[in-house]
Amino acid sequence: MEIASYGSIEDGVKGCFGKDVKITGRSYVSGGDINDAFCLKLSDGTDVFVKSNTFDNFGFFVLEEKGLNAIASTGTIGTPGLICKGADRSGGTAFLMMEMIPRCPMVKGFFSIFGRELAKLHMADTKEYVPGGNFGFSSDNYIGASKQINTPKDTWMDFFRECRLKPQFERAGRYFENSHIRLVNALLDKLDKILVETEFPSLLHRDLWSGNFITGKDGKAWLIDPAVYVGHAEADLAMTELFGRLPEEFYKEYMSVYPIQPGYRDRKDLYNLYHLLNHLNLFGSSYLPSVLGIVKRYS
Ligand code: ADP
Repeated sequence: MEIASYGSIEDGVKGCFGKDVKITGRSYVSGGDINDAFCLKLSDGTDVFVKSNTFDNFGFFVLEEKGLNAIASTGTIGTPGLICKGADRSGGTAFLMMEMIPRCPMVKGFFSIFGRELAKLHMADTKEYVPGGNFGFSSDNYIGASKQINTPKDTWMDFFRECRLKPQFERAGRYFENSHIRLVNALLDKLDKILVETEFPSLLHRDLWSGNFITGKDGKAWLIDPAVYVGHAEADLAMTELFGRLPEEFYKEYMSVYPIQPGYRDRKDLYNLYHLLNHLNLFGSSYLPSVLGIVKRYS
């Protein structure tokens, strides 16, 4: 369900918690890449989590809301409850307010449960999220600070080529020599020999590194900061391996619920090429050797 919009954080607090409720304290939360994040203490005893950015970034929060709502609507894995959003012209800020997740202890078997719940997310019905195709999403969104094109496509190969790799390669054009461009084109041409289709398109979190799940009040993994779209479930699994694998029980339990297709290990780095290209575009040339290594291997 869409949350209400307010003209300021204070108005949002009054609208959602009662007209007499005031903000009594504010502490910064570190760890974000893009937005300011803080915990607000309210006079009724509630703590709420707020992300804020400049006024013109309101659309960014509308899309984050949409992504969190999509995951929540599957009822498979925790996400923070959304409270309200808004844009404050006079203060020059936009914000998204949600349930504050206190640092909770993990339950026993945290990663086993996380694996099973992610598998269930990947098994949820996805038709309502991609009108007009099998893969994509009902709107474009962001991965970190980069726009993600989510135009619906009928096949995973088409989607991954046209909406994922090509736009990032085009944006990274200045880093490539002619010899690299030949390899990039060769890779794009042979994607259908490397990737496999899935009969079961999955709603993906799609930015599933360790900073994007936190321990919820039930002690289980809750997903935050998603870059959702409907795609091949393998792409989410691959991202969990980009900066080092999660504990083995996560993968074992994931596969006990949703077995992966043979050959995943041979495709994994190709999925992560998308993230490395995105890092190249956002953070610069230190990511070029990793990008070129994967391009050479698959082209
Ligand atoms: P950004 O959009 O800037 O990347 P994040 O969504 O990653 O921001 O969040 C910034 C920080 O706030 C991270 O440390 C994250 O763990 C924490 N965080 C995010 N959502 C919540 C929440 N609902 N409750 C408590 N902490 C949160």
